Amino acid sequence: MPYFSEKFGNAASRNHSYGWDADNAVKKARKTIASAIGGTAREIVFTSGATEANNIALKGIAEMYASRGNHIITVKTEHPAILDTTARLERDGIKVTYLSVGQDGLVDPDEVAKAITDKTIMVSIMMVNNEIGVIQPLEEIGKITRERGVLFHSDATQGFGKVAIDADRMNLDLISFSGHKIYGPKGVGGLYVRRKNPRVRCAPLIDGGGHERGMRSGTLNVPAIVGFGRAIEIALDEMESENARLTVLHNKLKNVIMGGIEEIYLNGHAERRIPGNLNISFAYVEGESLLMELSDIALSSGSACTSSTLDASHVLAGLGVDDELAHSSIRFGLGRFTTEEEIDFVGAKVITSVARLRELSPLYEMAKEGIDLKSVSWTEH
Ligand SMILES: *Cc1c(COP(=O)(O)O)cnc(C)c1O
Repeated sequence: MPYFSEKFGNAASRNHSYGWDADNAVKKARKTIASAIGGTAREIVFTSGATEANNIALKGIAEMYASRGNHIITVKTEHPAILDTTARLERDGIKVTYLSVGQDGLVDPDEVAKAITDKTIMVSIMMVNNEIGVIQPLEEIGKITRERGVLFHSDATQGFGKVAIDADRMNLDLISFSGHKIYGPKGVGGLYVRRKNPRVRCAPLIDGGGHERGMRSGTLNVPAIVGFGRAIEIALDEMESENARLTVLHNKLKNVIMGGIEEIYLNGHAERRIPGNLNISFAYVEGESLLMELSDIALSSGSACTSSTLDASHVLAGLGVDDELAHSSIRFGLGRFTTEEEIDFVGAKVITSVARLRELSPLYEMAKEGIDLKSVSWTEH
């Protein structure tokens, strides 16, 4: 709070104590944030969030390494901040390979190895999926990218502060993260850019005063950065105990729902995941109707970033979930302030709501009578 008012200095002002105070506060946050990913303070570039960090990583590397190649590898189930950016790069002549995932949502490292060509400059694979919570095998993939001399970027927004991250052990060269996914302020995030073995450079998206080692010009948002630093400090302190607590709640909610309703499906690998996410498809129930029934619970049918569209989730499509079932999917998010009472409330309410909606569903009735819905011809000719 004081950095909004009393401590109002510009962190780039080097000639007076107001500037020094701001700069010291930013330095402290930078150090803490770097420690969360096994990096050093000078490897952190502050941005407006993970969207911008992903844009710098992809566009900045494509531009800076153009003489080395024009091929990037990513995955079909990435966040739109990656997929929309690679779509633009494709319009600009970059070749992009989109790897498929297995039914469990995981990338096969062998597929990464097979996709690398002598034109490949970077592999970009998210750490934790934002819709289904699965943790990708980055350590295995990092061995391959390092051996082949290809840069490795990860959108770690959903793993940052929640799973142990080590840039060196994972051979990551660039890492994107965000403040508001760890209870920090909105509108702040960052990009880790490796400084040695190898030394990585990104062309900037924003030119100007040369802040952030020239990779992101513009006066730093000091209060947001300080808040971000404090948020990751708390997240790191509590990571272990919080993961244990959330695992208990996650399992409880999953077992109550899965045990109380038939014909429902868990999306994403059951073990290789963070406990803060639970994504379930409820056959014969329209996801939007279920959300309506549960409107006193803050839930989502997919990603908060794409929930304004009616398209089925591209992530669930990537797992091979058909359109209809994808539209009947709900994403439960558990976090620091979720209590056991809330889990009990949500579990019970989901069970009664699904039962109610199925009672009203002619499709469910037909399925119960043994009619194969896929064989029914719905149109009249
Ligand atoms: C939320 C999120 C983003 C976008 O982060 P912002 O800081 O809101 O720009 C990018 N990637 C993933 C995986 C996310 O969950």
